[in-house]
Amino acid sequence: MNKNKLTTSWGAPVGDNQHSMTAGSRGPTLIQDVHLLEKLAHFNRERVPERVVHAKGAGAHGYFQVTNDVSKYTKANFLSEVGKRTPLFIRFSTVAGENGSADTVRDPRGFAVKFYTEEGIYDLVGNNTPVFFIRDAIKFPDFIHTQKRDPQTHLKNPTAVWDFWSLSPESLHQIMILMSDRGIPATYRHMNGYGSHTFKWVNAEGEGVWVKYHIKTEQGIKNLAPKVAVEIAGENPDYHTEDLFNSIEEGDFPSWKVSVQIMPLEDANKYRFDPFDVTKVWSHKDYPMIEVGRIVLNRNPENYFAEVEQATFSPGSFVPGIEASPDKMLQGRLFAYADAHRYRVGANHQHLPINRSKSEVRTYQRDGQMRFDDNGGKSPYYEPNSFDGPEESPEHRPSTSVVSGLAESVGFDHHDHYTQPGDLYRLLSDEEQERLIQQIVASMAPVTKDEIKLRQIQHFYKVDPTFGKRIAQGLGIAIFN
Ligand code: NDP
Repeated sequence: MNKNKLTTSWGAPVGDNQHSMTAGSRGPTLIQDVHLLEKLAHFNRERVPERVVHAKGAGAHGYFQVTNDVSKYTKANFLSEVGKRTPLFIRFSTVAGENGSADTVRDPRGFAVKFYTEEGIYDLVGNNTPVFFIRDAIKFPDFIHTQKRDPQTHLKNPTAVWDFWSLSPESLHQIMILMSDRGIPATYRHMNGYGSHTFKWVNAEGEGVWVKYHIKTEQGIKNLAPKVAVEIAGENPDYHTEDLFNSIEEGDFPSWKVSVQIMPLEDANKYRFDPFDVTKVWSHKDYPMIEVGRIVLNRNPENYFAEVEQATFSPGSFVPGIEASPDKMLQGRLFAYADAHRYRVGANHQHLPINRSKSEVRTYQRDGQMRFDDNGGKSPYYEPNSFDGPEESPEHRPSTSVVSGLAESVGFDHHDHYTQPGDLYRLLSDEEQERLIQQIVASMAPVTKDEIKLRQIQHFYKVDPTFGKRIAQGLGIAIFN
């Protein structure tokens, strides 16, 4: 068959793709035009459900290259020798907006990295901020409801946003970063990425350390002034998506330096903050940055849907040498991400080319919707078996850890939500502080209940009294009689 011949989805040649089959030139369309039926029916099903969060995104392919030997901390094969390169795919995103929303809004940015290692997929599913609004996954659906649309008006609702934040003071640190200049990056290329959570690295001797990832832009941090961002949102809502694609297309490949902070396991109980609390950072002075490697993005997707929309990242996709920590937010995400993809893309989402491991996948999983490979053929489909089916490798058992305590619904055992946001406030220049305050005032002004404003001002006052006073002043609220 001529390779340019149009076919139906079942492979038969199409006789006419421009005219429906009708009963005479002016008569009704015939149901026997099965090519038309198939074309319309498939079109109706072109969308998969959009992600509830991180719906609007852009992605690109590239590589990670090791620049420093960290094998004394981790046996992860892709980090095993200086110079080693591993292909990767990154998806950047905003969080709260829908798939068609503007790129240049004030919002954290997703920074999800998929490493195609020789020992399977490793997903580092981070953000452009080192902390998060909440530290227990049980609060996530409520938090996101406040970021999404009001059920009655279908509008964004600043009262809900600040009500939740003022009643969840652990959010302060992330609020400060979001309202600072870094809340609107100039492009996806001009922002940092962070693993945010604490993870565990384990070396070949089975010794562990706690680790935090920092992915710093080599383009330099650049941000957009709010007024400029609003103008761009009107003129070109896809500004960041376009910038990433065009830069790579023009050969101007964005790059990032990857570093880690390493904490000895025994420090976790002694450190002045809970190192598994994702609303906190580890001071650079206490745990200095150790270089690991470099990320370069050098290839655009050929097809947005196949590569960007269908990409599925899960913080639970670990490889030997990298493990979870007790971070309560991470523990919830270990379930929620893979589950979102099973719902959104399907039970076999990991078989899609963008998600599939480059190393051979050998499981006893079978069947499920859209299982489009040979489904394991006639090979053994249960374990244990006597037919040479794949077997576990005991050397890859995860490291052990001691856990103790009562099984109960319990909060964190410390409540200092103010020191680190205060440190951040005080490291900003006078101009940066002024812009931060202006931004918070503008964001809080539409809140309809004074009780909420007052409660939040008290938190800002505890961060730094001058800061709290200036916000109160900006909102025209007297905090001292
Ligand atoms: P350092 O002075 O060593 O680090 C300060 C950090 O602040 C730098 O990483 C800098 O990033 C970052 N920074 C500067 N402006 C902003 C901003 N508007 N939003 C977010 N980050 C910004 O001090 P410490 O390690 O003791 O941390 C002090 C405070 O800095 C923390 O409480 C935290 O709020 C903030 N911070 C700390 C990080 C950490 O991992 N320790 C990471 C990011 C922020 P850069 O080098 O790119 O300019």
